Amino acid sequence: MIKLVQCLCSEQRHCIAALGYNNDDLSDKEAIEGLHEAILMALDGEGVEQLGFPKKLNPWCGICGARQSSWRYEIGIVKAGTMREAERLLKRGEIEQSSGRAVLDALGLSYDAWKKKHTN
Ligand SMILES: [Zn+2]
Repeated sequence: MIKLVQCLCSEQRHCIAALGYNNDDLSDKEAIEGLHEAILMALDGEGVEQLGFPKKLNPWCGICGARQSSWRYEIGIVKAGTMREAERLLKRGEIEQSSGRAVLDALGLSYDAWKKKHTN
């Protein structure tokens, strides 16, 4: 079974990070602990590139500003027959969220856009 472990912001459930995997030996708890540990490292700027993050993680959701202390971790099932199909589905979701985020940034409606405008 292909699963997805994800870190979501508290209320609006924007995806902070997600990872699809196909390993029946890995418990949900272990997957969540692994992602949580990676998030904490990325927040500290440790091994950011090796972990697959584009840069040091900010301790807030870039879209709505929800603080890291309120982020939650969840396990989901990916409705895909193969890992290759799952990767396609997950990539599509990532592109959709990134595109939506880019529009919000361009319109000055994301938290990061607001923060940038008010700190410069
Ligand atoms: Zn958010």
